[in-house]
Amino acid sequence: MAAVTITEVEDPASGRSFEEKIAFHAIEFPAAHGSAVMKFLSATTLTLKDMGYGHLKRMKKAETAGRLLALVAPDASVLDAVIAALPPMEELVTSQVLVHKFAPSTKDEFARGNADWPMVFHPNAEVATTVLDDADEAQMQSMVARLLDIGTPATVANGCGQQSCFVVNPASGLVVASAADWTPSTVANPLMQHAAMQALEVVSTQDLAKSVADSYLCTNYDVYMAVEPCVMCSMALVHSRVRRVIYVTKNPRSGALGSCHFLHTQRSLNHRYRVFHATITAP
Ligand SMILES: [Zn+2]
Repeated sequence: MAAVTITEVEDPASGRSFEEKIAFHAIEFPAAHGSAVMKFLSATTLTLKDMGYGHLKRMKKAETAGRLLALVAPDASVLDAVIAALPPMEELVTSQVLVHKFAPSTKDEFARGNADWPMVFHPNAEVATTVLDDADEAQMQSMVARLLDIGTPATVANGCGQQSCFVVNPASGLVVASAADWTPSTVANPLMQHAAMQALEVVSTQDLAKSVADSYLCTNYDVYMAVEPCVMCSMALVHSRVRRVIYVTKNPRSGALGSCHFLHTQRSLNHRYRVFHATITAP
């Protein structure tokens, strides 16, 4: 029997560390002006989210009692424009504040970051970094073997290629949905018939039939794919909140989970899943 080796797909370029900080220009002013300043900043600058810092709150209490500190922007020219347009305010002081550049991805990072500057945390973005236990790995190996047993051609192409997909409930070890797209990838190949899209459709139909209340389709489910999925399918898997994706054949033409992109490591997404590559060694 062929041996299946499971390895996690991590972004080698993701050298960015939560410890990295960025200097923001900030203004400090009497707390009585808090809501007026918030309104003014909203009207005259981009939101922190639009600047790429949606994990930071705009304002916090200053060290001096009765005063507030608000982030303006990393760019000094934005601060100058804000100061020039701000209605005259007594005791306005400008300063620079070092804040965490990237969103926290664990509760621990959130707790530490929040102590420096108030933060927003998406628990769904928390990615476990624990190693796979033996039972997990054994389940992955046997599911991969089952997936390959169904005889998909598993060719690489633009899009997802010809392939098959299982949605698995790892708690029960059952395949919840399966789908295959064996259509040769041509311009005539309908976009929505990629195997992952079809499998999600099956889960959705089952949920409707059972009146399942969870608005996310695949919470805690794992998805097995013969070929590394394309960007469309990888995003659909984000939206359906899958827990892990395991694929066999890498797709250097359009794979979004390690070959062309590392979509699963994007910190800006409010849900991330772990990705594993299964390598098959002939007996
Ligand atoms: Zn696809």
